[in-house]
Amino acid sequence: MSPAASRDDDDHDSMTTTEGRQPVTAHTPATRVLVLNSGSSSVKYQLLEMRDSSRLAAGLVERIGEETSRLVHTPLAEGLGGKRERTGRIADHAAALEAVAEELARDGLGIDSPDLAAIGHRVVHGGLKFSEPTVVDDAVLKEIERLVPVAPLHNPANLTGIRTARQLRPDLPQVAVFDTAFHTTMPEHAARYAIDTATADAHRIRRYGFHGTSHAYVSRKTAELLGKDPSEVNVIVLHLGNGASASAVEGGRCVDTSMGLTPLEGLVMGTRSGDIDPAVTFHLKRVAGMSVDEIDELLNKKSGLVGLCGDNDMREIRRRVDEGDERAALAFDIYIHRLKKYIGAYTAVLGRVDAVVFTAGVGENAAPVREAAVAGLESLGLAVDAERNTVRSDEPRIISPESAGTVVAVVPTDEELEIARQTFALVGEDRTIDA
Ligand code: AMP
Repeated sequence: MSPAASRDDDDHDSMTTTEGRQPVTAHTPATRVLVLNSGSSSVKYQLLEMRDSSRLAAGLVERIGEETSRLVHTPLAEGLGGKRERTGRIADHAAALEAVAEELARDGLGIDSPDLAAIGHRVVHGGLKFSEPTVVDDAVLKEIERLVPVAPLHNPANLTGIRTARQLRPDLPQVAVFDTAFHTTMPEHAARYAIDTATADAHRIRRYGFHGTSHAYVSRKTAELLGKDPSEVNVIVLHLGNGASASAVEGGRCVDTSMGLTPLEGLVMGTRSGDIDPAVTFHLKRVAGMSVDEIDELLNKKSGLVGLCGDNDMREIRRRVDEGDERAALAFDIYIHRLKKYIGAYTAVLGRVDAVVFTAGVGENAAPVREAAVAGLESLGLAVDAERNTVRSDEPRIISPESAGTVVAVVPTDEELEIARQTFALVGEDRTIDA
């Protein structure tokens, strides 16, 4: 299944690019991409104009299937009005996408517009097969479905989003952009667990890694910030949001990442434990009498920062630490200790590190986390400048002192733009409309 499976590079004039699509005559390029991130009961979306990477609209449908469903739509193009909100039951994903389509149409940005080049979908698990963004056809859908056992929470929702969007615009390329794709370059010695090989292979048990779209975007932007080509720099990316992961990126290619078969492995997160002795799970079952589902819920939803101190929002945790709250202080210290271990480990993996980069909600906003994470790591060439570290900005920025051996930086992530960029790079040039 090649990434450009449905693309017809030699036929730009007749524009029959995907099986079953109507030929369209080439003249004016279609330059917009709708990005959809479908969860089990929510859909997040953004409409982007790829000529200048600007956002035309963004929004969220949440609590799909409940009486209290809510759609919040924000027009972002110049001259359009302010935020709009709809409440009341939205029965399913099909109804949610129809509601999104109606809101976009009200702004003159309807998804039936010939300006729309493609719909880009975030798909969490692409296994080993999908190392690139891929135009969706029936075979691709089947393969994403085959991966449901390794991503039971995410892939079914992603599939529903793709199927619904396909029904709405059957003529339009739907592109799947996988969270795992950036990590498929990991060497076997980083990707394999040290367990029986036959069992691992039979059940596709290996380390896949997630947040790949963010790690790809941030590592590339970091190279830009350093004025170098991505192939010339080695970067440790720390994606610290409610979910959190670290990656070691060597010359633009991921060589290790902290999440594994599922997003549970690695750093301490908002509600996930991260690394843990697997025997803890046997103990919880045998001694505490918990079921597998209860243990799953404990480690994914009730652990991490929330399990340690009752809060998973770093703002609240810092407020409590500043007031002398000991539980919050210990939670913060455990979070930082794990982060430091990964910085050290990935320094060893990479050999030479040009930059350590913080991103996502915590990484972009929490100066105390950045300061504590590199404190005491001067021997690795790491330090932050107190003044630079507290500057608030949406721009990529260096926060290490001029004299530091390794750059420490903050690079805001933009997963939607990256999905749109990858989608458009794959199909954009093929989509043109009648002038
Ligand atoms: P994300 O998953 O990337 O959206 O990140 C969400 C998390 O970022 C929240 O749970 C907070 O812990 C954290 N966060 C957001 N804004 C701030 C802020 N101003 N200061 C500290 N942490 C923040």
